[in-house]
Amino acid sequence: MKELWLKQLSNNINNNIDLMKITKIKKTDSNQFLYKKNNIPFNVKIPLTFIKKIKKKNSKDPILLQFIFNKKELVKCKKYNSNPLNEKFIIPGMIHKYKNRVLILLTGICAVHCRYCFRKNTKQINSIKIRDWHKIINYIKKKLEINEIIFSGGDPLVLNDHKINTFINDIKKISHIKILRIHTRIISIIPQRISINLLKIFSKCKFNIVIVTHINHPNEISNTLYEKINSLKELGITILNQSVLLKDINDHHEILIKLSNNLFNIGIIPYYLHLLDKIEGSKHFNVSVNKAKKIMKKISSSLSGFLVPRLTKESYGGKNKKFIF
Ligand code: SF4
Repeated sequence: MKELWLKQLSNNINNNIDLMKITKIKKTDSNQFLYKKNNIPFNVKIPLTFIKKIKKKNSKDPILLQFIFNKKELVKCKKYNSNPLNEKFIIPGMIHKYKNRVLILLTGICAVHCRYCFRKNTKQINSIKIRDWHKIINYIKKKLEINEIIFSGGDPLVLNDHKINTFINDIKKISHIKILRIHTRIISIIPQRISINLLKIFSKCKFNIVIVTHINHPNEISNTLYEKINSLKELGITILNQSVLLKDINDHHEILIKLSNNLFNIGIIPYYLHLLDKIEGSKHFNVSVNKAKKIMKKISSSLSGFLVPRLTKESYGGKNKKFIF
């Protein structure tokens, strides 16, 4: 029988017309959302279960705006391009930018399509090729300075348990790997992804597991997420969150203060607040560095230090992240 999370994952909305119908957004209200079905480069994707978090009849809902196509995406802008970080793959699917860790894109698939995603052009990759995976494992085996592997994507946890287990088992055989980090958004979109079987797989890992969630707004947090985070914490897994600072979605200190408090209340530590990576079609989400710094000052004066995420910026071909605040 198909697991609940898999059913939820395949039950989604793929275009604005249906998304507007289900959220009762009037066409007259939002001309910027109208387009011909199947006529956009990066299709709309949002599971029906997560749509319930969008307030009806509100064309400015902060969850809706992250996933609904906006005509502004078609505007060409200087400095916005198809690979804003100039990511380079040593082996297909693997980036080795920092000495001690490698980032592996296990899949291009995600549970949702965030309109500002800087990797939106990798979505066509279903799963890493086995041939490339073996090359990656051999590369890591030879590099003793690598002690951390990051599973990223897309969203690595959209892969089924069998695949996740196979990847983890191969890593277990490399004695110098001490940390497995998993970047994922599906946990907050479909918390049921943290199934009993997945917890069993994690419980058999000898290395430390760090899960980095991607939550941008307090409205994304649910009771089910809280329960699932608890199950992960019982296994000793560290859970951090990264957000993207997005215009008209979370670019206000009160929203971000609430986000940090609510994350902490369910057991997640706010980790990074990223400035937008300048992927083509995302300019309308951009928040200036100056405004971001002002927001950070207000956040810092209202929260304990451990609840203040670090404001970061990555640049085209840059070696390291820059910490702005
Ligand atoms: S979940 Fe992450 S990788 Fe997937 S579309 Fe959103 S930002 Fe991109």
